[in-house]
Amino acid sequence: MTAGDVEIELQEQAVWIGKPTADTDELDDEVRRAISRAWKHHGLLPRPEGSNTVEKTSASLQRFIRDPDVVAWVQLRADGKCEACEKPAPFKRDVGSGFLEVHHVKTLASGGPDTVDNAIACCPNCHRELHYGKNRGTMKRDLFSRVHRLFKH
Ligand SMILES: [Zn+2]
Ligand SMILES: [Zn+2]
Repeated sequence: MTAGDVEIELQEQAVWIGKPTADTDELDDEVRRAISRAWKHHGLLPRPEGSNTVEKTSASLQRFIRDPDVVAWVQLRADGKCEACEKPAPFKRDVGSGFLEVHHVKTLASGGPDTVDNAIACCPNCHRELHYGKNRGTMKRDLFSRVHRLFKH
């Protein structure tokens, strides 16, 4: 085996080296790193082994204690229509209204309040886009111009 062969083999193995994690943000970072590595190794994508014995963790998580009345008020106000794309909720719940999620325009993690002037009801697609989308800044500005109860905290 020549030095060149060894290098190619190492590169192939280097494609999948993501660190398994229970943290969803960390998982998202690892996935993005794996995808950019895969782009660099196009054509050399071995099928990852995954795991047949998925481990659990009981690490203590910090969670925000949220007010259900804020969620209910925002959802009732939205009346089954996404406040971001203005389309009807994509599906109905078992009981009651269309499925919308409540998003904090200034996130709780960055110190935003859990109040109706900082929350919108949106469809799952818009919700993900508001967190991860390339155009999330534009979406946020658009929300402020259309949803008049919102306050810039
Ligand atoms: Zn939407
Ligand atoms: Zn959100």
